[in-house]
Amino acid sequence: MAKRSDEHLKVLIRHSALKGRIREMARQMERELKGERVHLIGVLKGACIFLSDLVRSFKSTDVSIDFMAVASYGKGKESSGQVRLYKDLDTSIEGLNVILVEDILDTGLTLNYLCRVLKQRKPKTLRIAALLDKPERRIQEVNADYIGFKIPNEFVVGYGLDYAERYRNLKDVCILTLPPQ
Ligand code: 5GP
Repeated sequence: MAKRSDEHLKVLIRHSALKGRIREMARQMERELKGERVHLIGVLKGACIFLSDLVRSFKSTDVSIDFMAVASYGKGKESSGQVRLYKDLDTSIEGLNVILVEDILDTGLTLNYLCRVLKQRKPKTLRIAALLDKPERRIQEVNADYIGFKIPNEFVVGYGLDYAERYRNLKDVCILTLPPQ
């Protein structure tokens, strides 16, 4: 992993804890789906690793997956406040039990936008799963059905989350500190 010498990483959530919590989340989802098929929609790119562990934790449920790509952050640590859709779904979600799978819930702008878009497409049910939640930063309310971990208001990387496209490959979720500008 190419860490720059002036950037500091501190482990916040270890890989083993992430794995365990994701297995619990899948079990809760399976209980609530009561044997019905589920369609997981991952929000690229950050949620790709969370989704790949989540989907493999389902034991007795038919699962299909699709992806959407959005961007709100650009290249740095600050959100632009605007959400843009870069990649849409490949197939219709009409009549399906959908779970929207996101890496981190921060201001709430991204999930609010995506929920609005997806509700118009008439899924049977629409639930939200976010691996991480920074409640202090919320601007728009989001009712997430499944939250992995509540975390403090820090910029985190790893396990799919990036800083300028780097650090997605870290196994742990880490707090990234940059040198003062
Ligand atoms: P929201 O729209 O809720 O403000 O932000 C959602 C998106 O912002 C996430 O999908 C993620 O891409 C990005 N984001 C928010 N907080 C962090 C963070 O601490 N680290 C990283 N790498 N991305 C973040």
